[in-house]
Amino acid sequence: MRVKAKSEPVRMCVGCRDRKRKEELLRFVERDGVLFFDPFYRAEGRGMNLCPSRRCFERALKKSVLDRALRTSLAYVPSPEELRDQVLDVLKDAIVNSLRMGYRFRGVVLGREAVFRNADRLSLLILAEDLSENSLREIEPLEVESYTLFTKEYWGETFNRKPTGVIGVLDRGIANKVSNLAEKFTALYRRWS
Ligand SMILES: [Zn+2]
Repeated sequence: MRVKAKSEPVRMCVGCRDRKRKEELLRFVERDGVLFFDPFYRAEGRGMNLCPSRRCFERALKKSVLDRALRTSLAYVPSPEELRDQVLDVLKDAIVNSLRMGYRFRGVVLGREAVFRNADRLSLLILAEDLSENSLREIEPLEVESYTLFTKEYWGETFNRKPTGVIGVLDRGIANKVSNLAEKFTALYRRWS
């Protein structure tokens, strides 16, 4: 019997026309003539996909390209920077909400001590941009996938505690979700120019 390989869903980027795994692309939907970013591929409506890159944003955000992709005309065509900022806002909220949810059921731990206490269960680390060199050196040997996002002050406020430079994700599901969101955030935020 032939076993059919399970194929991953691929989508085409409207900018470069490359086919990629769904997880690597950003999905947008049109609603009432406005373009919205759909972070979890859940929104109804005619959608289009874009790589998280400036080049693809620039190529796609032209009336002729959009009209064809969406089969309708937008009431307003955003600039690449406007659309990027919208995406960054949504991604930031999604990252923070996922971590908060994980923290509620102890799938996320906060601070260096808690991270080291759970070192054998870590799936992902989120590090603050202003984490000290010393702390970074301590964390490195853990050899866990990590993303650097926002400040210690910001994470402290998010979790209602003192400034927090290290966040450990233990839960696999939350780690996968946050890793995917953080990858896109980093691509748009740091590799934009
Ligand atoms: Zn592309």
